[in-house]
Amino acid sequence: MNRKTDLIIIGGGVLGTFHAYHAMQMGLSVRLIEKDNKPMGATVRNFGQVVPSGLDSKWQQYGLDSLRTYLSLQKELNLTLRQEGTVYIASNGEELALIEELHKINKENDYESLLLTKDECIEKFHGIKSSYCKGGLYFPEEVTIDSNQMIHRLQEYLVKKYQLIYNINTTVSNCETNSGSVVVSTTSGQQFYASKAIICNGSDFKILYPDVFFKSNIEVTKLQIMQTVKQKNYRLRGNVLTGLSIRRYESFSECPSYAKIKVNEDVNSLDKRWGIHIIFKQALDGTMYLGDSHMYADAKNCDDLGYEIEMPIDNYIIQEAKKIVNLPSWEIQNRWYGVYAQCKDKDIFDHSIDENIHIVTAIGGKGMTGSGGYAKEKIQQIFNLKK
Ligand SMILES: Cc1cc2nc3c(=O)[nH]c(=O)nc-3n(C[C@H](O)[C@H](O)[C@H](O)COP(=O)(O)OP(=O)(O)OC[C@H]3O[C@@H](n4cnc5c(N)ncnc54)[C@H](O)[C@@H]3O)c2cc1C
Repeated sequence: MNRKTDLIIIGGGVLGTFHAYHAMQMGLSVRLIEKDNKPMGATVRNFGQVVPSGLDSKWQQYGLDSLRTYLSLQKELNLTLRQEGTVYIASNGEELALIEELHKINKENDYESLLLTKDECIEKFHGIKSSYCKGGLYFPEEVTIDSNQMIHRLQEYLVKKYQLIYNINTTVSNCETNSGSVVVSTTSGQQFYASKAIICNGSDFKILYPDVFFKSNIEVTKLQIMQTVKQKNYRLRGNVLTGLSIRRYESFSECPSYAKIKVNEDVNSLDKRWGIHIIFKQALDGTMYLGDSHMYADAKNCDDLGYEIEMPIDNYIIQEAKKIVNLPSWEIQNRWYGVYAQCKDKDIFDHSIDENIHIVTAIGGKGMTGSGGYAKEKIQQIFNLKK
C-alpha cells in the first residue's frame, strides 16, 4: 500500500478529487490523502450549484468543461445530479438591463440562455412572488448536485473503477522533494512517495507551507447557509438566484451597465455589510437550502472569523427571502457555515514549490463549478500531456 505513485494529492475536497479523477483518466497512478474521516470542508457545505453562467468568460470555459464531466460521470454513477437549469430573477429595471446584457454576451459565445417574462418565471418557478419578479434569465443546461453526497459517491467510484489509493484520517505534515522524488510524511509517521504532488488543502493554512500562505494575498471567507424542513407538495426546480446575485456574480461584471449600476449602490446597506445575496436550492429530499452571507479575513487572521452563527445575518436572509418566494414552510432544520479561501488579486492560488510540488487552492466561491475543468488543464500542464 505504500508503493510509489505518479501523483499524490493532499486534500480530498472537490479540487483534490477532480485532480485525482483527471490524472487517472490520463493513465496515471494516484494516491489521495484526506486528513478527516471524509471531506468535511467547503465541498460538503455548499449549495451544489454548477453555474458556469455566473463566472467570468475565462472561468465559464472551465465551468462548461466541469459540466460535461459531471454529466458523463452521472451516466456511470448516481452523483445526485439534476439538469434543471439556473435562473437569475431580476427585481427591478437595473437588474433587468443586466440580465438582457448577459443574455446577449452568452448568445455571442454560443451558450444557450433564455430571457423569461415575469409571467413565465412565475409559471416555471413555483412560489416566486409577483411583487418581486420583473423577469428572468434562464440557462437550461446547468445542473445541481447534493454536495454532501456527491463527493463521497465520486470517491468510492474512483477507488473501485480506477484503483485510486485513498488514505483517510491521514494528516500530511510535510511534503518535500528528495533525490528527485516527492516524500510525503504524515503526523502518524507514515511516508509516501510519488513523482509529483499537488496540495489542494482548501483553507487549512497552518499545517503545510504556512509561510507561503501567510505571505500570500489569500483571504478566507465565512458563509452562513440554512436548510429548511422538507417542503410538502412543493418543488422549486434548478438553481434559483435573485437580484443581489445579479449584482454580485462575476459574469455580470462584464456587462456594459454593471459599473454604472454598482456606483449607485448603498455601501452601508445590510446586504453589502454582510455580503448577502439570496439563493434558493431544493435538495433531493425536499428540504430547501437558503443563503448566503460573506465575511472576510486574511489567511493569517482566519480565526478572527469566529465559530458562531450570527443570528442577525440569518434573520436578515430569511426576511429578504420571504419577499421573493412563498414557501410552504420557513421552519429551519439546520444552520451551518462553510469557509473557502480566495485570492484578492488572482482567480486561484496556483503556486509551485519546485518542479514536483504544486499548490492549487483558493478557488473561491466557484469550486463546485470550476474545479473539474481547471484540474484537467492542471494535470495536463504538470505532466506535460497533450490536450
Ligand atoms: C456555503 C457555501 C456555498 C457554496 N456554494 C457553491 C456553489 O453553489 N457552487 C460552487 O461552484 N461553489 C460553491 N461554493 C464554493 C465551493 O464549495 C468551494 O470552492 C470548494 O468546495 C473548495 O474546494 P476545495 O477542495 O478547494 O476545499 P475543501 O472542500 O476545503 O477541501 C480541502 C480538503 O483538504 C483537506 N486537507 C487540508 N490540509 C490537509 C493536510 N495537511 N493533510 C490532509 N488533508 C488536508 C481538508 O480536510 C479538506 O477536506 C460554496 C461554498 C460555501 C462555503
